[in-house]
Amino acid sequence: MQSEITALIRQLVECESPSDDPAAVNRFVELASDTLAPLARVKTHAGGSFGRHLTAEAQLPGRKKNGQILVLGHSDTVWPLGTLRSMPFREEKGRLWGPGVLDMKGGIAFFVFAVRALRDLEIPAPSKVLLQLNSDEEVGSESSRPLTEKNAARSKAVLVLEPGTGIEGKLKTARKGVGDFTVTVRGRASHAGVDFSAGASAILELSRQIDRISAFTQLDRGITVNPGVISGGTRSNVVAAEAHAEIDIRVLRLKDAPALEKKFRSLKPIDRRCTIEVTGGLNRPPMERSAGIVRLFGTAQQLARPMGLELEESLTGGGSDGNFTAALGVPTLDGLGAVGEGAHAVNESILTSRIIDRTALIAKLLAAPLGD
Ligand SMILES: [Zn+2]
Repeated sequence: MQSEITALIRQLVECESPSDDPAAVNRFVELASDTLAPLARVKTHAGGSFGRHLTAEAQLPGRKKNGQILVLGHSDTVWPLGTLRSMPFREEKGRLWGPGVLDMKGGIAFFVFAVRALRDLEIPAPSKVLLQLNSDEEVGSESSRPLTEKNAARSKAVLVLEPGTGIEGKLKTARKGVGDFTVTVRGRASHAGVDFSAGASAILELSRQIDRISAFTQLDRGITVNPGVISGGTRSNVVAAEAHAEIDIRVLRLKDAPALEKKFRSLKPIDRRCTIEVTGGLNRPPMERSAGIVRLFGTAQQLARPMGLELEESLTGGGSDGNFTAALGVPTLDGLGAVGEGAHAVNESILTSRIIDRTALIAKLLAAPLGD
């Protein structure tokens, strides 16, 4: 089975699918549809300016009287077309390597083989199983979010095929919420030599504001504020009329978001000749570690023990589509995909030794009476 799964992962990785190339993503979606067609009822959904989203209702043995399990993944990757030339798919040193192998084409392949195993072994599934692959996850999920939320609201549990945490492949039971702000300062331009005092430097003002903004970080509460991009000015001999900063925010608790947003909106210029404009806010709510999530993790732990695995849980600052489903109150277990390292990095790779147990864990979860 492992060689068959590896062959599918290779096919998926070699069909490149950057978020910003809808034609490429659609080619991947077609490949996924063809792969799933013998096992599921597949539909695709318009993705706006992105590729199409895919849903697939698995055709499993059993009466499926027991509600629905939503399995979430994404078809897009962060890698531009042509990355395969410098990072070809390969099997080496006990790992599979290639763009998107960890995030998250491995996880998609595991799901396919989990469904195949349940069918081949005629293991009944108590719930309807719906897979959803979004085409815009790596760029914020704006177009897929309504579909994700609609399908999650009809489900009693959500399983997310994102990679596990670390080389141990810990599951994810909490994720921080993610947002971004753009701060624009407008000052007054002047000649830095001839008319210095007439100018009000937007750069100087923004740099002072960034000092204030950075103080919004509260590590003990899991709140981080990162001014990651800064721009402004035109030439060194001109007092800058305009400057911008793009700032990433992360919160562990949803209740911390309004206060943080208020701090941004309340920024006042230090040099009164400047103005400050703030746009943005939270775009993924945190996945808070609820009682339902803890129960779901406990079930996964129990199912993994007979395979000699003691699963661990983790908190991550990174967001996924699981943030949206957990925020609706639907128990969500994330990190069920591949185990490896280097997501979004040139060393992206998965451990071949963890292909079978992950596939088996997903199959066992699909066959378990989750949420009862
Ligand atoms: Zn991902």
